[in-house]
Amino acid sequence: MTAKTKIYIFFLLFFLCCAFILAGSPLALGKLHPSFTDGGHQEEGEKNKGSALTTMLEAELLPASTGITKYNPVKPAEKPADPDTAVPPEEEDKPAPFSLPSRNRPAGLDKLPAWDEALIARLSFLQSPIPGAGISSRDTQLPGAPRPYRYGTHEGLDYYSGYCGVPVNFGDPVYAAGPGIIYRIDHDYVEPEFVQRQEWLQESAAAGDTPEEILDKLRGRQVWIVHTAGVLTRYCHLHTVAAALQVGDMVEGGDFIGTVGNSGTSNGARGTRDDAHLHFEIWVDNYYLGEGLSPPEVRLLWEKVLLDSSQGLEQ
Ligand SMILES: [Zn+2]
Repeated sequence: MTAKTKIYIFFLLFFLCCAFILAGSPLALGKLHPSFTDGGHQEEGEKNKGSALTTMLEAELLPASTGITKYNPVKPAEKPADPDTAVPPEEEDKPAPFSLPSRNRPAGLDKLPAWDEALIARLSFLQSPIPGAGISSRDTQLPGAPRPYRYGTHEGLDYYSGYCGVPVNFGDPVYAAGPGIIYRIDHDYVEPEFVQRQEWLQESAAAGDTPEEILDKLRGRQVWIVHTAGVLTRYCHLHTVAAALQVGDMVEGGDFIGTVGNSGTSNGARGTRDDAHLHFEIWVDNYYLGEGLSPPEVRLLWEKVLLDSSQGLEQ
């Protein structure tokens, strides 16, 4: 064997060793066997899907500057700070973590958000869920309007034919007001019996207010979308919801999410199609948009949020 042949055999063995090591590495195994990387069974897949909401909010929807690092849909609203409890200095500047809209707030409206230009800019990505629709011309259809029949307050805006500039009929499409993640979508909604609904109203009368669990039923079939930290929209009294959408799915503004109906209303309970309208709520840091304002102020605020910065939906 010549020296040249020995060198040739040495390099051949060297390259073979390199190839063997690479083929046995986790990277190569992953490429050859997808089951190493995809979880391999349904339960894991479901778990991955369930965490998508958290991951997405952490990664994209929550600005890093908010300091919010974890989103927990079932986490109750934080209790008011105990003045006797020392708060670590580094915690003082952090905003409260996002929580679901809660009507169990401390008495008074001292914590109302400032409905100012900064807030309008914060919500400027929102647009009307019904293409071309304006803000209702009737005060009784605005957020903040009294609802004597259930001893409560209207927390959203109603879109009715004849009052918002465009026809709104039973079965008309409803679109996401902005990009976000489906937090709730009532695929399995069952309309209550009329008598059952009457009992809910009697309970509200006895309580002198509409208990949250009853108010939720009176909103009928619903879709909720979480948009950004502390901003959530609700679409209520729907006839149907988009069959393909599930909790955790991302939507863009203008995506179809359901159809106009009258679920949860007295006419819905009677089985008619009367009183069809969209009830639409915008929640900001646990307050409905316009809370505490007069009807003209509410109308102006909603117009600025939904109409001024929007060119309207494409559909
Ligand atoms: Zn309404």
